[in-house]
Amino acid sequence: MLKLMNYVAGEWLGGGSDHRDENPSDHNDEFATYQVANSDNVLQAIAAARAAFPAWSRSSPIARHDLLKRVATEIFTRKEELGAMLAREEGKTIAEGIGEVTRAAQVFEFFSGEVLRIPGERIASVRPGIDIDITREAVGVVGLITPWNFPIAIPAWKIAPALAYGNCVVFKPAELTPASAWALADIIVRAGVPSGVFNLVMGSGSSVGQAIIDSPDIDAVSFTGSVGTGRLVASESTKHMRRFQLEMGGKNPLVVLDDADLTTAVECAVNGAFYSTGQRCTASSRIIVTDQIRGKFIDAVVERLASLKVGDALDATTHIGPVVDSRQLEQDLNYIKLGKQEGATLRFGGELLKQEKRGHYLQPALFTDVSSNMRIAREEIFGPVASVIAAKDYDEALAIANDTEFGLSAGICTTSLKYATHFKRNAEAGMVMVNLPTAGVDFHVPFGGRKGSSFGAREQGRYAVEFYTAVKTAYTAA
Ligand code: NAD
Repeated sequence: MLKLMNYVAGEWLGGGSDHRDENPSDHNDEFATYQVANSDNVLQAIAAARAAFPAWSRSSPIARHDLLKRVATEIFTRKEELGAMLAREEGKTIAEGIGEVTRAAQVFEFFSGEVLRIPGERIASVRPGIDIDITREAVGVVGLITPWNFPIAIPAWKIAPALAYGNCVVFKPAELTPASAWALADIIVRAGVPSGVFNLVMGSGSSVGQAIIDSPDIDAVSFTGSVGTGRLVASESTKHMRRFQLEMGGKNPLVVLDDADLTTAVECAVNGAFYSTGQRCTASSRIIVTDQIRGKFIDAVVERLASLKVGDALDATTHIGPVVDSRQLEQDLNYIKLGKQEGATLRFGGELLKQEKRGHYLQPALFTDVSSNMRIAREEIFGPVASVIAAKDYDEALAIANDTEFGLSAGICTTSLKYATHFKRNAEAGMVMVNLPTAGVDFHVPFGGRKGSSFGAREQGRYAVEFYTAVKTAYTAA
């Protein structure tokens, strides 16, 4: 069994209390335990990061490039093994696990290149004989707080730019997925990160996470998780007058117009709403369908859902893995009950499935006859549950798509250039997909949303430089 430890000030720490890491596909599989950090460990990590910052922020870019490149190479090389670990811990299928691990490697590879391209400018002053240099400097000690649903990719897309631009890191992963985070930390440590530059503190949000956001010695917090926790991060960060970025929930619409290619639309809906067990912030939980295509679209989605295998994430024939834990399962089941009470029709699924192994197996659930004001159409469920909402035409579909407090991703299936172009311009979302699922993005371009889904600078791609660096304007009289 794996025994996972915290990494603070260049040391793996033992001596804390152990916590069990569960396999959602098989409750009898005790594959890891992890040490829970205490608030003293967090303070030590922050102090070590602060002490390491002057040297690390002034280190040669090539040293940082080489470190990130070594990390990328090892993740790539071990993608099958790490993908299986991720499937075992989080419950996404092996193929999804390997895909996520590959993405983590690509992110490190990308930022190893960005280290050598840190931008700056020289602009002429309006006063003669004066030069102005605009440079970017590391921000300082950054607290990185991540959720369980992408347990290696999201840490990667925060840690890689943080280190690339010369920041020191205190990383707190989600309680449900410490092994994926620990495996990444282990790779970073063995790649030769200097003592104090990178620290891993595992444990609950209310103690370890709170100790990070309470600390006046943290210069910036990058958070991904639920809206409720995001609000806490925002209020604590404002109190300390430090920068923060929040990536939070979604209630992403997929619009299907009468002129859509039916096969494409069904693929987008099924993939976007139900793959990764619907546990993606970009999942298409609202499928808004116009009148002429709705009947045949629903029939085809139901036929597709009936052909999907829900099962053990480690079984290569599984299409949809288990729900991550009992708390999330209860939330999914409560929303399925609520949908029926609200008057929606449960057209497919929603039943617990009994399997040989004891796990959280839930049949994907498709509701029809849903209206935009029902709670199942307004609140993030974060499970394999989607709602079909009727619209008479494109204009009504767009209005329903934007009728939400969230604004992460929005998709449209249409063969009309006119509607596709109009939707790209008018969907109130940070990311727009045409004839593609709302989930599934590239690693080298900005990721993020609008409205209640996100706050602050974008993550990923070159845009990450905005959050992880501070701009300095220097004047020199010649
Ligand atoms: P969560 O808010 O419960 O937890 C996220 C992280 O915050 C965890 O590490 C948790 O321990 C920590 N945390 C909890 N309380 C804290 C506190 N008081 N102080 C500091 N940290 C604290 O979210 P979750 O259940 O892990 O993840 C699911 C949510 O994440 C969903 O809402 C989903 O949409 C969102 N998500 C968003 C994105 C995005 O990029 N927009 C990506 C993935 C997941």
